[in-house]
Amino acid sequence: MNEGFDVIVVGAGPAGSFAARYAAEGGASVLLLEKDRDIGVPVRCAEGVGADGLRSLMEPRPQHIQTRIDSVNLISANGTTVHFSGEEMGYVLNRKIFDHYLAEQAALAGAEIRTRANVDGLLFQNGFVGGVSFMSMGKRYEAKSKIVIGSDGVESRIGRWAGIRTQLKLKDFESVIQYILVDIDVEPNTCDFYFSQDYSPGGYLWVFPRGEGIANVGLGISGTHSREASAKSYLDRFVVNRYPGSKILNMTMGCVPCAKTLKQIVTPGLMLAGDAARQVNPLSGGGIISGMIGGKLAGIVAAKAVGAGDFSAEFLSEYERQWYKAEGNTHNVLYRLKETVSRFTDEDLNNIAEAASNLPESRKSVAGFIKTVLLQHPQLIKDAMLVFKDVIKQNLGMG
Ligand SMILES: Cc1cc2nc3c(=O)[nH]c(=O)nc-3n(C[C@H](O)[C@H](O)[C@H](O)COP(=O)(O)OP(=O)(O)OC[C@H]3O[C@@H](n4cnc5c(N)ncnc54)[C@H](O)[C@@H]3O)c2cc1C
Repeated sequence: MNEGFDVIVVGAGPAGSFAARYAAEGGASVLLLEKDRDIGVPVRCAEGVGADGLRSLMEPRPQHIQTRIDSVNLISANGTTVHFSGEEMGYVLNRKIFDHYLAEQAALAGAEIRTRANVDGLLFQNGFVGGVSFMSMGKRYEAKSKIVIGSDGVESRIGRWAGIRTQLKLKDFESVIQYILVDIDVEPNTCDFYFSQDYSPGGYLWVFPRGEGIANVGLGISGTHSREASAKSYLDRFVVNRYPGSKILNMTMGCVPCAKTLKQIVTPGLMLAGDAARQVNPLSGGGIISGMIGGKLAGIVAAKAVGAGDFSAEFLSEYERQWYKAEGNTHNVLYRLKETVSRFTDEDLNNIAEAASNLPESRKSVAGFIKTVLLQHPQLIKDAMLVFKDVIKQNLGMG
C-alpha cells in the first residue's frame, strides 16, 4: 500500500467502527483494518446493553435487536429474587448484524475497510507512530498514517508496541464463558442475574433471552479465583442443575477487563479506544456502549488533529480529557464500588436481596433497591453518591 491515510483504525469492533466513522465524518481519510474475514463474527459477547446508553449514541434498528428487555431479576445464593420491570429497559443485540452496521456507517462516512488484514507491527517516524504493517491473504503491506487508533480489543497489542503498559492485575480481569443454550425454559423479555460466590466467585452469572427457548447463558469469575477452578466448570455445574437436557449451540470463552482505564491512552500519533484502552464498565463488565463512546471521542479528536496538523501527545490528550468527563471518572468510582462489592459474602448478598424483595410494591424500584443496599452497607454511601452525582450531572447536560 503506497498511499497514506490520515487515520488508520485497527480492529472493527464497536469502538473501532465508531472511531473510523467519526474520524471520516470529521474530514479525515480513514483506513479501518480488521483481521477476521467478516466483521461481527465470531461473536464473543452476551450482547446486552442498556436502552438509554445505546439511544444516547444511535437509534437502533429492529434488526439490531434480538430481544427487548422489560424486566430484570437479581437472584442471590439462596434463590431470593429482586424483580425490576420497566418498558424497554435494555436490549439483547444481534452483534453480528449490529457490528456490521457500525462498519457500514463508517464506510458510508468515507472510511476504506479491509478485512483479513492482521496488523502485526507499528511504523515509527521521529518518535511518532506513523502507520502499521499488516498481513493480508499471505502478503505483507505497510500503510502510513498521521494517527493510528488501536481498537484491537481485550488482547490488544497496539498499545504494548507503542510502549504503553497494558498488563492487568489478576483481580482486574474476569475469565468469562458463555453458552448459547437451546431447549430451555426462559422468560422471553427478562434478564436473570445470579450473584453467588458459589456460582461465579468475584463475578456474576447471566441468562439473557435470545428468543423462545434460547438464551445466552454465561458467567465471569474474577482472575483471582481462576486458578482454583475453571469458569467452564462453574457454568457446567449451573447448566446441569438449572437446565438439564438443554443443548449447547455455541460456546465462547474470553476475558473481560474490569479495571480502570489505562493510565496512558495516547502517545505521539497513537490513541487507544474500547477494550484496548480498558474502557469497560468495571462493575458490570459491559464494554459495548463505553467502547462506542471511547471510539467516537477518539475519532472526533483524531479528525481535529488532522485539521490542525498536530499529532503530538499534548494535542491528542484532548481525547483523554473528554473520555474522563464522559465516562472515565464514573468508571473510577465504579471500580471502587466493585472492589467493595466483590468482598460481599453469600450471606451479605442474601440479606440484601431479602431486604430489597420485602420492599413494599410502591418502593420497588432501582432507587429503592439501592437505598436498601446502602442502609445495609453504609461504607458504600460515599462511592454511590459520587456515581449518582456524575450520572445526574451528565443527564442534566452539566457534566
Ligand atoms: C463472553 C463475553 C460476554 C460479554 N457480554 C457483554 C455484554 O453483554 N454487554 C457488553 O456491553 N459487553 C459485553 N462483553 C464485553 C464486550 O464484548 C466488549 O467490551 C466489546 O466488544 C469491546 O469492543 P471493542 O471494539 O473494544 O473490541 P472488540 O469488539 O473485541 O473488537 C476488536 C476487533 O479488533 C480485531 N483485531 C484484534 N487484533 C487485531 C489485529 N492485530 N489486526 C486487525 N484487527 C484486529 C478483532 O478481530 C475484533 O474484531 C462481553 C465480553 C465477553 C468475552
